[in-house]
Amino acid sequence: MQPKELLALAQEFGCPLYVYDAAKIKSQYDRLKNGFSKVARVRINYAVKALSNVAVLQYMKVIGANLDTVSIQEVRLGLYAGFAPEQIIFTPNGVSFEEIEEAAALGVQINIDNLSVLEHFGTKHPRVPVCIRINPHVMAGGHTNISVGHIDSKFGISIHQMPHLLRIVENTGMHINGIHMHTGSDILDIEVFLYASEILFDAAKHFKTLDFLDFGSGFKVPYKKGDIETDIEEFGQKLSKRFNAFEKEYGRDLTLAFEPGKYIVSEAGFFLAKVNVVKQTTSTVFASIDSGFNHLIRPMFYGSQHAIENISNPKGKERFYSVVGYICETDTFANNRRIAEITEGDILCFRNAGAYCFTMASNYNSRYKPAEVLFKDGKGILIRERETFEDLLRNQILLD
Ligand SMILES: *Cc1c(COP(=O)(O)O)cnc(C)c1O
Repeated sequence: MQPKELLALAQEFGCPLYVYDAAKIKSQYDRLKNGFSKVARVRINYAVKALSNVAVLQYMKVIGANLDTVSIQEVRLGLYAGFAPEQIIFTPNGVSFEEIEEAAALGVQINIDNLSVLEHFGTKHPRVPVCIRINPHVMAGGHTNISVGHIDSKFGISIHQMPHLLRIVENTGMHINGIHMHTGSDILDIEVFLYASEILFDAAKHFKTLDFLDFGSGFKVPYKKGDIETDIEEFGQKLSKRFNAFEKEYGRDLTLAFEPGKYIVSEAGFFLAKVNVVKQTTSTVFASIDSGFNHLIRPMFYGSQHAIENISNPKGKERFYSVVGYICETDTFANNRRIAEITEGDILCFRNAGAYCFTMASNYNSRYKPAEVLFKDGKGILIRERETFEDLLRNQILLD
């Protein structure tokens, strides 16, 4: 999207504001899908937790995506947005047995990631097909908070527990229809992913009635010019070849599944905020915006570096700024960043604000959550109203 279009949306809907570019969501989806055009059956389950607005989910359905969910509430949002239960996979970690049963009763695909639940579920519901989440113990690159396949990770059933897993399946007579891994975000090295895939193929050979192999996600997206990103075309070509060979060897039709979140929506999102104060101190120039980590926590939480542009003055001379929020504790979006000269009242645009931004927003400091807009066919559609004081009070009870 162009700075002019974003500025017009900031004026129309006010700030702070999240904007999602529908065309970019579709082009990322298509790019991933096209990377696997040589595979007969490909299923892309969009990871709802990245951005869960129901209008965005509706749009995911329009472009052909299915859903990956991690809570019963996400399952419900998916159904509300019009997905059929068969289009949803439920991949929770550490949730109650009742929550898994509830999802199964709604007809969604269950994905189980520990042996005790597997045994309990298989005993009680031997006819419900189940996918199992394997932990291949492969260390994907990236941040420790988002790398989930390594040896100490709480996710998945260890590949070393295969004998126990098989005993449970045999004893309960349960039907395993899928096998899954998710090694975490920020995969830099395709070879590492392919290595993990070999572990999944090996695991798959133990089961005779699989319908799908789910390779999770972890596709890296660029945050700034020159950043490394997963080469989807090369990756697609290599994994497709291997998958097709495996399918032949396996002797049964298989679907290749992925569950990307960030890859689909990160770059489609823009966060727009107004500069309230420009403060010159002895050491730096602060630009304080009408937002904080209550709306965009990733810089403080993961140290993520969102590119920031001054869309009110895109051609201005660049100066160095520290961009900070209004929360009453350390609340820094960026330090020492070159940004076109900022005047109070200017609108700043944060890039890569589609994934894990609004969904992690809170009401800390009793602030309202921002509005959300989907930019589609050249115009902005309001898909979430800005909160009001009534929203803050909802569910609170005064003493008599
Ligand atoms: C979070 C999550 C994803 C999505 O990860 P991205 O890095 O956003 O692509 C996929 N699968 C599972 C099981 C997840 O928990």
